[in-house]
This record gives sequence, structure tokens and C-alpha cells, in this order.
Amino acid sequence: MRPAITIDDLAVAALIIDGTRVVAANAAAAAIAGRQLDELEGQRLDDLFVAPDAVSAPWLDDGRRVPSEPSPLEQRLRLRRPLGEEVAVAVAGRSRSGGSHGEVEIVLTLRLLHGGHGDPSGMEVVSTVSHELRSPLTSVKGYTSLLLTRWGRLGDEQKKAMLEQVHHDADRVTRLVNELLDISRLETGHLQLRCQPVSLPGLAASVVAKVALEYPDLECGLDFPDGFPSVMADPDKVEQVLTNLVENAAKYASPTGMQVSGAVNGDTVAVAVADSGAGIPPSDLPHIFTKFYRSDQGRPSGSGLGLWISRGLVEAHGGRLSADSVVDRGSVFRFTLPRDGKRQR
Ligand code: ADP
Repeated sequence: MRPAITIDDLAVAALIIDGTRVVAANAAAAAIAGRQLDELEGQRLDDLFVAPDAVSAPWLDDGRRVPSEPSPLEQRLRLRRPLGEEVAVAVAGRSRSGGSHGEVEIVLTLRLLHGGHGDPSGMEVVSTVSHELRSPLTSVKGYTSLLLTRWGRLGDEQKKAMLEQVHHDADRVTRLVNELLDISRLETGHLQLRCQPVSLPGLAASVVAKVALEYPDLECGLDFPDGFPSVMADPDKVEQVLTNLVENAAKYASPTGMQVSGAVNGDTVAVAVADSGAGIPPSDLPHIFTKFYRSDQGRPSGSGLGLWISRGLVEAHGGRLSADSVVDRGSVFRFTLPRDGKRQR
């Protein structure tokens, strides 16, 4: 049973543990742990934290032993995300009486630390973001200067092409800024979903049509069974996830031989975006959902944020996003959503 004031009310990432397992977690903790809430709740602490050491983390030694009050110092630990990725976190524990039988529980607050494996330092983040912002801004500056200084000498077609490029680059900057805002909302648990009935076949068709404007060679089949049910979801967020997956397939795999398909499984729906590209090497696959991870720096530009954010958005709906890939055959990115949105927290 949940305590009266739940950890969902806390602005920070928080877990309640009973000594060996996670009893409850909030969305911000799930985002840090890279897991959906249902999966995080019930996790063994030994599995969640890497080599927990009783000296540095007394609450892991015996959850019922009360840590020093009022608030113990933060401990630096490594948290194990799915697929073996590890991130550095600062963890503070505080005891409270709150279990269903009045037993002592420990509330842990988590703070993501930068600089760990797969978790870039502040300078790396600034450098990635600056680079990603600089290239569209350089192009905006270049084309607008040309338009201003040579307006009378440029033909209408040339002007139109330049304005289209400026328009496109402004969209890139807006998208990157929105991604950064999403990151902070996901990490602090402040993401707000505006759920309403969403038709996924219609949304998928419109996403494919939009991506085709940028990739004119795009050939993407749509395969949704007749009578596909609508789901209670935030249409903007689901569109963002689908756009990221379809764009990635066109950008990193191949714009041809793609397929977006849907399936219904009881009270859950699943959407798969399959490509027939070169696939993702097994050594990269565990890392692609990591913030700022890019498997090949030389490939088309990108921030490495898209999949991390997409997974956070899907999990905020109570769904899951995963990937399978076979080298030389292609990849399938699949996400699930609860049909009635009831697992959304
Ligand atoms: P971004 O595209 O901004 O770099 P993402 O988080 O969307 O960031 O993707 C992370 C990395 O995963 C990409 O840099 C790319 O190397 C790899 N990737 C994603 N989707 C695919 C795909 N369909 N096929 C091959 N590689 C992919």
C-alpha cells in the first residue's frame, strides 16, 4: 500500500526500498534508471546498483537499519540500466515509517552525476549542443546575408531555395531546444502529458508523409490491422517518438524498404518501425538509448538525444521502447502503449 504522501509528489527522483528491493518509484527515478516504472518497482537492489558496498551505502546493507538523521550524505554509486549500461548517481537515504504494516522504509533520492561511462560531462554536453546549434545557425546567417546583399541579383527560384533552407534550419534549432527542455522535464518528472484518443494508423501516415518531404526517396509501407483501436495518449509526444524512429531509419539505415506496423495485444498496442539498412552492431545496440550516444560520429549529424527522449516519452505513457537489429538485415524499433492510458502516472 502506498504512503499518504507519495513519492510522485516529490520534485526529485525518488525510490522507496524495503532493504532488498524497490517498493515504489516515481517517474523521474524511472527516467534515470532507464526503465519503466512497473519494471523498476520490485527490482532487487543488488541488480539495480553495481557492486553495492555496505560501507559506502549502509541502506543497501540492511534497509531496516536507519541511516543517520536527518539526512545522510549523498553516496556516489553506479546504477545499472537495462542492457548493461551504467550511470553514476548520487544517492541519499532517509528512513520513514510508511510500510503497510508500519515498518520502516527507506526513501532514496537519486541525482544523476555527469562524467560516468555513457554519461557525458558538462563540457561534453555543451560542446555537442553548441556544435548542433552552430551548423544550422551558420547556414541561416549565410543565406540571410546573401539575400540581403544580393536581393536584386537573385532569381525567384534561388531566393525561394534559400528561404526554404533557412526555414528548415530554424526548425532544427527549435527541435534541439525542445529536446533539451524535454530532457530536463523527463529528469525532474515535470513532463506533462495531454492525453486524448489517438489514431495511430492516421498518425503514422502523417509522420511518414512529413518525413518524405525531407527524404523524397522514402518508401515506407504502413501495416495496421483494420479496426485498430485508438489509444489514450498525448498525440504530440507520440508523433515525436514516431518521427524520431522513422527519420532515424531513413537517415541511418535506408529510406527504402521501411515499414511501420501496428499490433494489438490485449490492453496494449505495439508499433514497430522496421528498416532494411545495415543494422546496428551488437556492441552499439546496448548504448543507443543513452543520452548523447551516437554510434558513428562521422555519420549524418545528430545530437544523440532522440532515442533517449523517445524512450522517456513512451515510458511516461506507461509503455516501453526497445530495439532489435541484425547486421546487414536491418533494425526494428518497437514501442508499446497501454490502450486506455491507465498506467500513466
Ligand atoms: P541522433 O539521431 O540525434 O544521433 P538518436 O538517439 O536518435 O540520436 O540515435 C542514436 C544513434 O543510434 C544514432 O546516432 C545512430 O548511430 C543509431 N541509430 C538510431 N536508429 C538507427 C537505425 N534505424 N539504424 C542504424 N542506426 C541507428
